[in-house]
Amino acid sequence: MSQFQVKQCPVCDHNDFSPFLTTTDFFVSGEQFEIMHCNGCGMKITSNAKDEEHIGKYYQSEEYISHSNTGKGFVNGVYHLVRKYMLGRKRNLVHESTGKNKGHLLDIGAGTGFFLKEMKTKGWQITGTEKSADARKFAEEKFYLKLNPAEDLFSFNDHSFDVITLWHVLEHIHKLNDNMDAFFRLLKPGGKLIIAVPNYTSFDAKEYMNYWAAWDVPRHLWHFAPKNLRQLGEKHGFSVQNMYNMPFDSFYVSMLSERYKKSSFPLFRGLITGKISWLISLTRKGRASSVIYVLEKNK
Ligand SMILES: [Zn+2]
Repeated sequence: MSQFQVKQCPVCDHNDFSPFLTTTDFFVSGEQFEIMHCNGCGMKITSNAKDEEHIGKYYQSEEYISHSNTGKGFVNGVYHLVRKYMLGRKRNLVHESTGKNKGHLLDIGAGTGFFLKEMKTKGWQITGTEKSADARKFAEEKFYLKLNPAEDLFSFNDHSFDVITLWHVLEHIHKLNDNMDAFFRLLKPGGKLIIAVPNYTSFDAKEYMNYWAAWDVPRHLWHFAPKNLRQLGEKHGFSVQNMYNMPFDSFYVSMLSERYKKSSFPLFRGLITGKISWLISLTRKGRASSVIYVLEKNK
């Protein structure tokens, strides 16, 4: 048994699903995966992904840029520039949403530790979990950061963090509800949970359909619209306080989607679609390609 079979919607607990679309793992395996629609809440769920033990091989790609640090290729080069800009934006968001300049921050899925290193430099006490042993090793060698394996989340002390962040991580987590429970338990009263995830109601998602790069199956198990994320948060004792767009995601995802579609001039076309998506998201945050949600732990 290596299939990750979702029998119950993690958001609304319904067990009644309809087929939504079939898409391809364009990034690593070339295999096809189904996405299903929850008839209770509309949540989209990758239906034939692999369980935690067997999903590892779908992360093995030289192109897996969130862990790569070479500047090769135009898209990769842009990605690294954007990451630099986004580090500052994430830091400001933590400061604004917590109202603190220092505190204890937990980053889930910390990757190679770029964000945590930035926050540590600014005086924050930091803790990070990361599933990949290679990424943990990189963080230790490059930034002297000792990250914890993912399962350590469940043994941290209650009420020990001011803020927990997940930058494009929640959609990868198998034990979604167990993790949300842990976040509630670990945060101090009034603590903030900051979650960035792709948005399947975005302009670029509708435009690219099954080629939309942010489906990213089977690595993304869960696909959220703003109402789904809000409902998940409320189920676990959180209220959504604010939503922000991630300005570059619309461009990056659109360029990647054009590449998957094998369009001619993918970068140019992606820039145009990305720009439309970005313009829409300026006035309607709920239509952004990726949304950053700031949730507050209810008192
Ligand atoms: Zn549901």
